[in-house]
Amino acid sequence: MMAEKSIFKKIIDREIPATIVYEDDLCLAFEDINPQAPVHVIVIPKKEIASADDVAEEDEALVGHLMVAIREMAAKLGIAGGYRVVTNCGPAAGQEVMHLHFHLLGGRGFSWPPG
Ligand code: AMP
Repeated sequence: MMAEKSIFKKIIDREIPATIVYEDDLCLAFEDINPQAPVHVIVIPKKEIASADDVAEEDEALVGHLMVAIREMAAKLGIAGGYRVVTNCGPAAGQEVMHLHFHLLGGRGFSWPPG
């Protein structure tokens, strides 16, 4: 039986709309529907990886690619030098969508430790 597609896979497949801010062969980035900062972008690999727990050795270059894309986006969005990148892994950390994603947050100050 095929597992239900995640919301993010449906965005990749253009089955539900999103405000896409960046796309290439390996990744996609779109605005978070419930933004927690003036800039709040979700960055995902097109490959279906459920969470940080599921990143394999073969994904090393892919995850590095995501970080380069994040750096380029931060510059383009005007937040270079002052932003936060977050990945929640598992329910205890607040992961709701089981498709690996990085939150790129900026445009305000952030405190530490996070909640
Ligand atoms: P997480 O809790 O780390 O799994 O984050 C999931 C994020 O996805 C949340 O910040 C949601 O607001 C966001 N989100 C859920 N559905 C959508 C959607 N259809 N389009 C854009 N962002 C979404």
